[in-house]
Amino acid sequence: MAVSVVLFTSDLRLHDHPPLRAALASADEVVPLFVLDRGVREAGFDVPNRRAFLADCLTDLDAALRERGGRLVVRSGRTAEEVARVVAETGAAEVRVAAGVTHYAARREEALRSALAGLDRRLHVHDGVITALPPGAVLPSGSDHYAVFTPYFKRWSRERLRDPLGAPRAVRVPEGLASEPVPARADIAGTAPGLAPGGESEGRRRLLAWRRAGLAGYEDRHDDLPGDATSRLSPHLHFGTLSPVELVQRARSLGGPGAEAFVRQLCWRDFHHQMLAARPAAAHADYRPRRDLWRSGSEAAGDIAAWKAGRTGYPVVDAAMRQLRHEGWMHNRGRLLTASFLTKTLYIDWRVGARHFLDHLVDGDIANNQLNWQWVAGTGADTRPNRVLNPVRQGRRFDPDGDYVRRWVPELSGLPGPAVHEPWLLPAPERARHDYPEPLVTLPEALDRFRRARDVG
Ligand code: FAD
Repeated sequence: MAVSVVLFTSDLRLHDHPPLRAALASADEVVPLFVLDRGVREAGFDVPNRRAFLADCLTDLDAALRERGGRLVVRSGRTAEEVARVVAETGAAEVRVAAGVTHYAARREEALRSALAGLDRRLHVHDGVITALPPGAVLPSGSDHYAVFTPYFKRWSRERLRDPLGAPRAVRVPEGLASEPVPARADIAGTAPGLAPGGESEGRRRLLAWRRAGLAGYEDRHDDLPGDATSRLSPHLHFGTLSPVELVQRARSLGGPGAEAFVRQLCWRDFHHQMLAARPAAAHADYRPRRDLWRSGSEAAGDIAAWKAGRTGYPVVDAAMRQLRHEGWMHNRGRLLTASFLTKTLYIDWRVGARHFLDHLVDGDIANNQLNWQWVAGTGADTRPNRVLNPVRQGRRFDPDGDYVRRWVPELSGLPGPAVHEPWLLPAPERARHDYPEPLVTLPEALDRFRRARDVG
């Protein structure tokens, strides 16, 4: 009886899963394996919101496999060691895995390769599972990666993607194989109260609803803070409960400006992955150093604490920071303006903000998070590195009636319309009635500090 092991990592789905389909074609029995990797925990990446979402994903994957006559096998430890153990227990001839797109995944793949070579077993690595195009699939002449988005997007758009695969009907798993219990979300403490549910079934429900009701209006509405009109598919892309190839292909088949704008955003995801794959150090070090001497010391510590708590005195910034705490997710416009506020208005190191986001974001992703932070801080791929977003103008433009602020900052819920963006303009007695802080710094002062620090006119 030929057995194949399919190692699931950031691809927790049955639809459009090339390694699983190939394993089913080449073997009589398949071991769908997930390893709760000790290294992820040691790297500080295993935070409650993502752990809870992961628990949902594994529970759903196990249920979907059971419907097909199989089940999920869960182990914990070092991935390569656990895979080798399962291979020895089942006599499997091969192991299949999606190609990793991070430095961590590349090292894991290396360890797997050498563990399996020692057992004389083959490792098959499948591209185009975790990103639509693998990092390095398209290259500019004379470089190992694209450093500017638009040329990457043009080149990426010309590539032909494979047709998405359906989910298998049946999966036969060898009998008697030990598995740890699938982790349960209910056992995980410290999660955000408004955290979305995870799992492939939930992802597909969301995708369907998004295609019916959201996609067509995406181009016009993606920056509408109170309208909340983006797909919210990011955690599903992060955990791979939805396939990026399938999302791109489905959007392209619908066509229209909304679908085109959505595909462009999906390309940003690939763009950051190809940058980080080529420059792994950019997860921690400036991609383009600007000789910043970021503020530190006790005054900066107070500003950081206020930013994290959503008490900067700038309502739209505070609203977005509170959304992050409550949902483990933040609207992209919120991410842009809170990151600009920390790095430019407060002139605090982008790594401080990136770490805070990674501690809370359910879609927290080393490539997208670190490189978006660098983009905003002006140390990354942005072609206008010294632009500073004005939080009052941002609020008035993307939350014109103030509804987003009133939703997340209840202290200001009594203020009507756009007045909510500038509570400091209220008469002093009225201001005293709201338990809301004065701005940490005035915008002209902050702009001047930033321009002097960066030495720009
Ligand atoms: P939609 O607008 O519906 O977009 C569809 C998909 O396209 C998203 O799910 C996402 O996978 C991708 N996408 C959209 N914008 C970007 C972008 N700028 N970069 C990369 N991919 C993008 N995204 C993450 O997935 N993980 C992160 O850790 C993360 N951290 C960020 C930190 C900062 C400072 C900023 C400015 C952005 C960050 N983003 C991150 C990108 C973006 O904000 C989120 O992907 C988006 O808000 C998720 O919501 P959505 O699924 O509704 O997006």
